[in-house]
Amino acid sequence: MTFDRRIFNFAAGPATLPEAVLKQAADEMLNWQGLGTSVMEISHRSKEFMAVYEETLQDLRSLMNIPDTYEILLLQGGGLGQNAAIPMNLMPLAKNSPKADFIVTGIWSEKSFKEAQKYGTANLAASSAAEKFNTIPARSTWQLSQDAAYVHYCANETIGGVEFPDIPDVGNTPLVADISSNILSKKMDINKCAVWFAGAQKNIGPSGVTIVIVRRDLIGHSMGITPTIWDWAVQAKTQSMINTPPTFSIYMAGLGFKWLLKQGGVQEIEKRNQEKANLLYNFIDQSSLYGNDVTKKYRSRMNVTFFLKDENLNAEFLAQTNAAGLVALRGHKAAGGMRASIYNAMPLEGVKALVEFMCDFERRA
Ligand SMILES: *Cc1c(COP(=O)(O)O)cnc(C)c1O
Repeated sequence: MTFDRRIFNFAAGPATLPEAVLKQAADEMLNWQGLGTSVMEISHRSKEFMAVYEETLQDLRSLMNIPDTYEILLLQGGGLGQNAAIPMNLMPLAKNSPKADFIVTGIWSEKSFKEAQKYGTANLAASSAAEKFNTIPARSTWQLSQDAAYVHYCANETIGGVEFPDIPDVGNTPLVADISSNILSKKMDINKCAVWFAGAQKNIGPSGVTIVIVRRDLIGHSMGITPTIWDWAVQAKTQSMINTPPTFSIYMAGLGFKWLLKQGGVQEIEKRNQEKANLLYNFIDQSSLYGNDVTKKYRSRMNVTFFLKDENLNAEFLAQTNAAGLVALRGHKAAGGMRASIYNAMPLEGVKALVEFMCDFERRA
């Protein structure tokens, strides 16, 4: 299938980006800031790039309201890299031997839990595996340890479409939040977690840069085996430039932050995200063809999973949506069914077009 126009792209990540951001990048591609070269071709230590870098951090700080008690690191290796980096940087803070607690609510937090086992004791404090990851275990059932260095959870499970409506309270133990797929989608009180991390490719820009927001007092306790590039203390001291950073991804993330500021920031985008998600879930709930099994209060505003009650129609649904320019709706292979990822950059019109199509498809089915 080829198109002569931009389509509505519901991919989970890398995901759709604001058209204005892509246009600006295209306009600046051959001659950035009158330097006669693209931003990709200049030194990361040049004053021009450093200015972009500083502004990008400043914009993120202001969008998320990040206090000065937190460091922002721009790293490589993605969310998955942090699954290793976090235990290596934090587990030594445990009272006894290296240890952390995990709340497993889907495939991403399960991966984090498994990776951490390489570096110390990973305690499975709660899991919704028995409920097919369609819900979040009640806070009162969590078996938190007394001697864990931190508690890890995934704020939005991208594959299952399960999202924490609030930040859980785990007392004084530092809380680590994987916000790879809902960063900047809604207001988050930064002080409620000690570490926040996210790859850029879902809700910010292209892949290649990973944002780690970490409370400064937790920096400087890493295991001896920690790779230098993932040692938060080293990266904090060198402005995340112990080696060459992903300059183009950082520049694009910066354009994404400017775009979001122009939209009215997180407060405004949260309203739009709520409206988009409501539109889709309300339609699914009244339909006799489509369904969603996630506990209502835990449904993701970013990744709307759904299935066709007659699975024989799956192939036809995907073929016809593709032809209509509504693409990448096939669910993750681990979950099956369908998934519409409706991140910040997905306009309301895209969700309206999808609902209209789904309604029409149901009528014809
Ligand atoms: C995509 C994703 C990851 C993995 O991110 P990478 O940057 O691809 O390593 C981790 N956690 C969540 C919740 C995700 O959605």
